Amino acid sequence: MASFGTRLTLRVMLCVGALGLGAAVAHATRAPQTERPRAAGEGLSPPPSVPPRGRGVAPAAPSPGGAVRFMPPQPSGHGPIAASRGPAPAGVAPAPIPATDPFGASIRAGMVVTGGGPHRLIMFSFDDGPDHRWTPRLLDDLAARQMRALFFVTASRIAGRSPYERRLADIARDIVRRGHFVGSHTMDHAQLPLLGSDALAGQIVGAERVFLAELGQRPFLVRPPGGSSSPRIDAWLAARGYTQMLWNLGTGDYQVRTADEVVRTFQRVLERRERENGERGGIVLLHDIHPWSVEAFPRIVGWLEQRNCELLRRGEELYDFVDDPAVFFVPRADASASDTAPPVTPSPRWIEARQAPLRVRTAQRCSSTAQR
Ligand SMILES: [Zn+2]
Repeated sequence: MASFGTRLTLRVMLCVGALGLGAAVAHATRAPQTERPRAAGEGLSPPPSVPPRGRGVAPAAPSPGGAVRFMPPQPSGHGPIAASRGPAPAGVAPAPIPATDPFGASIRAGMVVTGGGPHRLIMFSFDDGPDHRWTPRLLDDLAARQMRALFFVTASRIAGRSPYERRLADIARDIVRRGHFVGSHTMDHAQLPLLGSDALAGQIVGAERVFLAELGQRPFLVRPPGGSSSPRIDAWLAARGYTQMLWNLGTGDYQVRTADEVVRTFQRVLERRERENGERGGIVLLHDIHPWSVEAFPRIVGWLEQRNCELLRRGEELYDFVDDPAVFFVPRADASASDTAPPVTPSPRWIEARQAPLRVRTAQRCSSTAQR
């Protein structure tokens, strides 16, 4: 496996390739000088060609901790979202937080996840929220598609006592109630490698306290802001049981102003990943604080579904929206805290069990679209 230094270099190079020099430089200039960032924003390295010893991807692996059983991915495609997870009608007490594991306790202590792999498995993630205008609309869009996503919440947004912050905390609870996954995006969106140990603890443990108070449990999934990390930060997060969930399909939505640009960047990045890394799916990064990102989300889904019509005609694997980050999880075991998980390669049986019904649904959808 490539050394850390080699991997870092690859990531930065890919970063330049994926989103243009501007994005790469913008991130690189924010990176600390003393500790090199692991994933400078958009770009992530190709996964190691040889999976680390003793690690296989187990999409429906039992909980390592044993305390919370994770709901396995549904073989029939999008997991059904229980009706009780919808917003409670007015005047009715909100439903309790579901017994699934939205905080990632069952996939704690994993290798660093980027999400890339040879299969067309796609999961969406949304950072920096919640936002009082755009997150509720996004949640309705996700519910309409019966999709689950990852949300990396900036804890200070839901920590305060003002009516505005109480409203944001309600939205964060709604994210959990609707069956999505929430992880820590630190307390204040801090660039972690810049921080000394006290400030680092303030960002990570402070966010845990906010999650505990507002959402009922501490998070075990974390996404360092900007993807910036270092061996020291990795070790620190690992010691607290975190699994770092990064991404491999950036959309550049933090540097544009229209949904068109977001969709186009996503398309370009997806094509580039396939051409250069052989990655055909992974974790998509969007930000639910931008209207153009929330507007782009259903259009990206629609574009992938439209591509599925063509892929079906060609007899190729279809894009499959997974709704469980456990698909990308690999226990760390004896790997270093900075080691990236190998490519996501579930068993052929698992893939086919999802692809077969997906082909049926896709055939129905594409023929009804063609008739219109
Ligand atoms: Zn962020």
